[in-house]
Amino acid sequence: MEKIEEDDSSVRVAVRIRPQTPREIIDMCHICTSVTPGEPQVTLGNDKSFTYNYVFDTDTYQENVYEKCVAPLVDSSLEGYNATVLAYGQTGSGKTYTMGSGFDVDLPSDQLGIIPRAIHHLFDGMHQKIQNAHDLGQLPPEFKVTAQFMELYNEEVIDLFNPAYNNKDKIYKIHEDPHGGIMVKGVTFKTVLSAEEALQCLKLGALSRTTASTQMNTQSSRSHAIFTLHVKQHRLVPEEDNNEFETLSAKFHFVDLAGSERLKRTGATGERQKEGISINCGLLALGNVISALGDKTKKASHIPYRDSKLTRLLQDSLGGNSQTVMIACVSPSDRDFMETLNTLKYANRAR
Ligand code: ADP
Ligand code: MG
Repeated sequence: MEKIEEDDSSVRVAVRIRPQTPREIIDMCHICTSVTPGEPQVTLGNDKSFTYNYVFDTDTYQENVYEKCVAPLVDSSLEGYNATVLAYGQTGSGKTYTMGSGFDVDLPSDQLGIIPRAIHHLFDGMHQKIQNAHDLGQLPPEFKVTAQFMELYNEEVIDLFNPAYNNKDKIYKIHEDPHGGIMVKGVTFKTVLSAEEALQCLKLGALSRTTASTQMNTQSSRSHAIFTLHVKQHRLVPEEDNNEFETLSAKFHFVDLAGSERLKRTGATGERQKEGISINCGLLALGNVISALGDKTKKASHIPYRDSKLTRLLQDSLGGNSQTVMIACVSPSDRDFMETLNTLKYANRAR
């Protein structure tokens, strides 16, 4: 199979295979995934092979995933470009672990997921730019970072920073400004002055996500969690002698998607089924949007952002000048074979 070269496509797809859990080892599950050495290719069973931009086998470190998939996007966000990182996969496949959206301050630093790493990287990058300007005797750029943490459940937005999250009457609406910028009206913006403050916000939201799901009797695996950093930068226009200023603004979404598992396996009925339908509507729409973005022949044609709240909310950060990475998380164990196959197919379509 031919190797995919680094391309300029705005959407990249990675597959990450988590290690077997202690339970799977006790149950003597067999490993049914294998990675072709030196190739971004995974084979499921004997003969179902798929190639992506990146494939991370069971022994891949968090740092490695971050450096390959996300670090370049954080660098671009310091130049004003929007970005989105999405974790896709069945419940238990490693989405939250990979993303770091269940942030726990006690986690050893080598286990930190994408979001806390991106936060450190972003603040380090800002300090570096300020330092560089000082060193050159130039006026340093000014930065302002704000964070939002939302959950999409049943096609409704929940503000994870708003303590009144269980106030079900509050309906947040998605707006588009004349320049195509998307914002959700009324959702809390928290200004964060340091990496520590941003991590504190992440922790707060992660905690409120679990509390909200207990109080509303829902499962967090059935909702999409979206952590967003907005980076505003006021700086001298580079490489100009006159004292002209510009304001750059970048939005970085980190999305821990709802579990992609099929309903029939969980035996969903009634209310659950209704949840399932709207969750699938988001994942389905996302698949269609990403696939349309990747299809060069369709470039100019219609991208179906309006088919779900999820794609609508991410609209200004998917496609165009934005960089998107989807990390499809899978289990290596044979008992998850069918779900893994579904995930690999979904991710293949996205590529
Ligand atoms: P999801 O969010 O997709 O439901 P989790 O991220 O909660 O899945 O992962 C399920 C379990 O597997 C957790 O106990 C998590 O710590 C563990 N896990 C997932 N990915 C890895 C990994 N790459 N290395 C070690 N443990 C992992
Ligand atoms: Mg999770």
